[in-house]
Amino acid sequence: MFNKIPAINLNFLTPPEPRPEVNPQGEILSSIKTKLLILGSGPAGLTAAIYAGRAGLAPLVLGGYDHGQLDITETVENYPGFPEGILGPQLTRLFTQQAEKFGAQIVMETAESFEVLQPKLVSLGLPLLDPYRFVIKTAQTRYHAQAVIVATGASALWLGLASEERLRGHGVSACATCDGYFFKGQTVAVIGGGDTAAEEALFLANLAAKVYLVVRRSELRASKILQQRLVAHPKIEILFGRTVQEILGDQKVSGLSLVKTNGETETLSVAGIFVAIGYHPNSELFSELLFTTEQGYLLTESASTASLVEGVFIAGDVRDFRYRQAVTAAADGARAAIDAEHWLSLQN
Ligand code: NAP
Repeated sequence: MFNKIPAINLNFLTPPEPRPEVNPQGEILSSIKTKLLILGSGPAGLTAAIYAGRAGLAPLVLGGYDHGQLDITETVENYPGFPEGILGPQLTRLFTQQAEKFGAQIVMETAESFEVLQPKLVSLGLPLLDPYRFVIKTAQTRYHAQAVIVATGASALWLGLASEERLRGHGVSACATCDGYFFKGQTVAVIGGGDTAAEEALFLANLAAKVYLVVRRSELRASKILQQRLVAHPKIEILFGRTVQEILGDQKVSGLSLVKTNGETETLSVAGIFVAIGYHPNSELFSELLFTTEQGYLLTESASTASLVEGVFIAGDVRDFRYRQAVTAAADGARAAIDAEHWLSLQN
């Protein structure tokens, strides 16, 4: 008779199964690998997708950010190839169709985190254990990519008034180059006192009958040369020390209610209002890993779209504070795809 030997628990010898990652709703995140992940579905992201698709990279586009500024632009009249103009959202649809035709997959998810694995191996010039070293999480999925193009764009800052939101696209705009033409011969107001506001006012003065520049302080922030041009322009009137209380109008803009520094109110009769109080690059997710300017625009190497992290490329308004046009963003997307394709070809 043998005594029964108590069973020994040997579980500690085998590593525990990694727990599946779940989102706050308790749903398990799926995991997807892709050679190239493009963040953003504006002109830069979708053009990058067209180029990368044609290069056989089958890119995956996270397009859950909306299509950026194009989607709030009524008619685009300065995109080459459309002499009659084209609606902003329609142009986005065409970009999307073209990208899908070449094998890009567009998913309407938004990146919530961005992680780079094995940074030490890269800094030491050692080979990577896993080439899929960029991990981007959305609410549904954990994406693993070999290269990433960040094309998340920039968003215009808004005043934050309910009337402003209601009348956006009906007389309220943040882009004089896009929408100024609709106010030919009419009176408009530009809100802001920086370089953007000054440039918007000068651009609009070529089209409108009169332009009010509404500045909240008693001085402009714009560069001296622009200030001189503003003051010298016969169609521009600068109203200092005014804040916007309300944008007036039912179906479309009819005026602007202002408050002066002494508390008096004032009403201006205008057909269009251009909010130009600055832009905000959509770069928060990357600001710890990638270098940015003081204003948060992502930095690239001087002659290319490569960021200072190998395998990450930057395109469009998230890096460009100067031109900010659909056509320049699209061109930047093409450059980023070419740079990414070249970089990937050297890795494998
Ligand atoms: P900015 O220089 O930050 O100026 C924003 C302006 O809007 C300021 O006058 C500010 O007033 C005003 N403002 C901000 N919030 C406001 C509010 N809630 N209500 C009313 N007014 C408000 O922005 P930016 O003009 O877009 O320029 C951003 C950067 O890009 C700057 O560095 C600029 O030099 C650069 N930029 C350069 C060029 C060029 O070189 N051609 C063109 C455009 C932009 P306060 O002054 O009172 O703060």
